[in-house]
Amino acid sequence: MIPYGRQHISNDDVNAVVEILTSDWLTQGPMVPRFEQAIARKVGAGHAVGVNSATSALHIACLALELGPGDRLWTSPNTFVASANCALYCGASVDFVDIDPHTYNMSVDALARKLELAERAGTLPKVVVAVHFAGQACDMRGISALAMRYRFKVIEDASHAIGGDYCGKSIGSCEYSDIAVFSFHPVKIITTCEGGMAVTNDAVLAARMQRLRTHGITRERSAMQASDVPPWYYEQLELGFNYRLTDVQAALGLSQFSRIDEFVARRREIARVYDEALSHLPLTLPYQHPDALSAFHLYVVQVDAGVAGVDRRTVFERMRAAGIGVNVHYIPVHTQPFYRTLGFGWGDFPVAERYYENAISLPMYFDLDAARQRQVIEALKDALVP
Ligand SMILES: *Cc1c(COP(=O)(O)O)cnc(C)c1O
Repeated sequence: MIPYGRQHISNDDVNAVVEILTSDWLTQGPMVPRFEQAIARKVGAGHAVGVNSATSALHIACLALELGPGDRLWTSPNTFVASANCALYCGASVDFVDIDPHTYNMSVDALARKLELAERAGTLPKVVVAVHFAGQACDMRGISALAMRYRFKVIEDASHAIGGDYCGKSIGSCEYSDIAVFSFHPVKIITTCEGGMAVTNDAVLAARMQRLRTHGITRERSAMQASDVPPWYYEQLELGFNYRLTDVQAALGLSQFSRIDEFVARRREIARVYDEALSHLPLTLPYQHPDALSAFHLYVVQVDAGVAGVDRRTVFERMRAAGIGVNVHYIPVHTQPFYRTLGFGWGDFPVAERYYENAISLPMYFDLDAARQRQVIEALKDALVP
């Protein structure tokens, strides 16, 4: 089976991990700050906080922005559940904003309309999580203009998007947001097995997230309540978690990171080959907004049964039978049984639902070679025969 996504581990990656395994520190050594600095420098952010997953990064990002009971977080329904769950971890409530039918990202028009109604009802959100679906940036200028007008904070869920650009700047520069979050799960652009990172230009938010990732404890004298403290002393200032990344993971991340440009360039090349080979088929190919340069975590095509004469499920099953590990991203979050218990349901966000009905993610990963990609393309052509 050709998978839809997978990691690429080089000999250098293996050696970097082995080196740390035989060093003095397996965790809380020098590798995490080195990895954080490398990412911060690359994306042009002032601060980076490495954690054990993007889910953890979203959680502490929300807490640092003081999201709590009585507050609201809005996100896209076309995302992994973690983008919404983070609000509930903080005791806040979640709502969704429907997507743009072309980019599949949160629609700024829908956001503007929903904000107008919420202002009148007194139900404005405190935080909006903008998800850069498939690696293509949201309309961050539009979102940040609304953030200024309606005074909400913006978290970019850039789990798909490290290595991507928006308006000539790296995703993660936080020019239009408060915090951006990356995932290093094996199917994402670079991996640390499990892992994530939050980046920000705000030193106060960074310090807060650093503390929350390690139990709410500080060892910084300037942050302590006590003065004239002994050398072993630390203070727990709030309730935090153990969300730390290990040095072993950071060593893998740093080694992977040294190839990030190569990884992203290869994904863009694979996308270009798909674009060309599939352009004459009855499919909708991924639209690329001129402001965004995608990192191409995913390559999603849409099969409209009315156009293709064959439905998405049939195409999906034929592809799987042909050994192609196609997938679907995403089942709209608001339709999950858990979210239905919160009052959401089918029909709430029709653009995301229509998109989902037709979507198929094709294999997309660094060492998908030309022969295998050809196999995917041929299988898709065969699967589309009515
Ligand atoms: C993968 C992913 C996450 C969660 O990442 P983890 O590192 O697995 O916690 C969150 N949001 C989106 C959009 C993702 O794709």
